[in-house]
Amino acid sequence: MESKYLKEECGFSSLTVTEEASRCLLCHDAPCSKACPAGTNPDKFIRSVRFRNYKGAAETVRLNNALGAICARVCPTEKYCQKACSRTGIDRPIDIGRIQRFVTDFEEAAKMDIWEKAKANGKSVGIVGSGPSALQAAASLAMMGYAVEVYEKEKVLGGMLRYIPEYRLPNHIVDTEIKRIEGLGVKFHTGVEVGKKVSMDELKAKHDAVLLAPGYSYGKMLPMFEGNKNVIKAVDFLRDVKAAGGKYAVPTNVLVVGGGDVAMDVVTTLKLLDVANVTDVVYEEFKEFRASKKELEGAQKLGATIVDGYVPVACEGKKVTFKHRVINAEVAVEAGLIILAVGQYPEVKGLGIDLVKGEVDEGKPYATKDPKVWVCGDIAHSKFDKTVVGGVRTGKEVALYIDMALGGK
Ligand SMILES: Cc1cc2nc3c(=O)[nH]c(=O)nc-3n(C[C@H](O)[C@H](O)[C@H](O)COP(=O)(O)OP(=O)(O)OC[C@H]3O[C@@H](n4cnc5c(N)ncnc54)[C@H](O)[C@@H]3O)c2cc1C
Ligand code: SF4
Repeated sequence: MESKYLKEECGFSSLTVTEEASRCLLCHDAPCSKACPAGTNPDKFIRSVRFRNYKGAAETVRLNNALGAICARVCPTEKYCQKACSRTGIDRPIDIGRIQRFVTDFEEAAKMDIWEKAKANGKSVGIVGSGPSALQAAASLAMMGYAVEVYEKEKVLGGMLRYIPEYRLPNHIVDTEIKRIEGLGVKFHTGVEVGKKVSMDELKAKHDAVLLAPGYSYGKMLPMFEGNKNVIKAVDFLRDVKAAGGKYAVPTNVLVVGGGDVAMDVVTTLKLLDVANVTDVVYEEFKEFRASKKELEGAQKLGATIVDGYVPVACEGKKVTFKHRVINAEVAVEAGLIILAVGQYPEVKGLGIDLVKGEVDEGKPYATKDPKVWVCGDIAHSKFDKTVVGGVRTGKEVALYIDMALGGK
């Protein structure tokens, strides 16, 4: 039997997608499109789907968003396009994410080749990191005629996309999106840590501009858990489970510490791997939870125990003691594995930048003090959330700024 961890939720069929698209009010000045950070233009592709023009719909998505099939699966649409959808006032918003997934699945099934290779302009850009912002920037710059080279320290490309659990984002979808970008002539180098294997000076000498997109790739540790062999960071756990295709041995009792979306991914992954007892202890109380309601309810439905309002105060081997933040209460949990989901941080040592505001994004968005060096993605001080679609937006925008700086229109 296929592991539940590997099973993606059902998508629309051609019948159900038409039914859903027919609910669209075809709004003038569509609020859904205004609310999409990537500018994917949902009103336009939904209109095409409604009239069964799937090819036109696929063109709209792909020309606006290099990661259209990924965003269709992982974008928190309830915060963006679907939150703005006018249909909400009547019954429920249009399921824009799933329509986009149908459209990009069609594009792949029909082997459509929408992008056109640009004439080389003789200039080159080096990009550090291969997460969503880097991938979008690479595609945008390549379509303007730049020779683009991407340097990734890991053996696999995709950044955090390789940490999002398989049941939400299958690896083959990420592979296909990257292959398409490779088709534009972008060169990818893996296993190359900039600052160690290659220096910034070397990159600056080789390229006309260098774009830094190292993300928030490192999981945080709390001092009391340091050096404890029963403890693993959430991002490392999620990466390892995904890389192993869900074949990952986990004890029957697992404790998760943390309450954001990453913690919910860990809890859900554990339950889908059939771990019997999953306890998640969270600093925030339910009313102030950071994870989305959908993720929290999904984890609870699978049978995880979620305890709110507690702070870890001591850890001895497999036993962690927590104290309530408000009331005088203490709880101790013993588990075979302790997973820490308490946030991530960026590492820019060796990249020649300091992330404090004023050092980056000063004056011009995405710029740094060095006129040859730019930033995008999670490390940029942009107004967009640290999400895939936020990365796509910053990747599109920084490509335009770099082009302007290098003499483009
Ligand atoms: C478990 C998890 C689940 C998530 N779920 C969602 C979701 O459902 N929806 C959503 O929108 N967002 C989600 N996110 C957030 C989203 O993945 C990030 O906001 C996004 O990936 C950030 O993109 P980025 O381009 O800034 O870089 P990242 O994706 O962080 O990638 C940075 C890359 O740079 C590489 N790198 C770093 N330093 C160097 C160096 N010196 N040299 C070479 N390479 C380097 C890293 O190895 C990494 O591959 C999730 C994140 C995690 C961790
Ligand atoms: S806001 Fe909703 S109803 Fe209006 S065009 Fe967009 S998807 Fe259709």
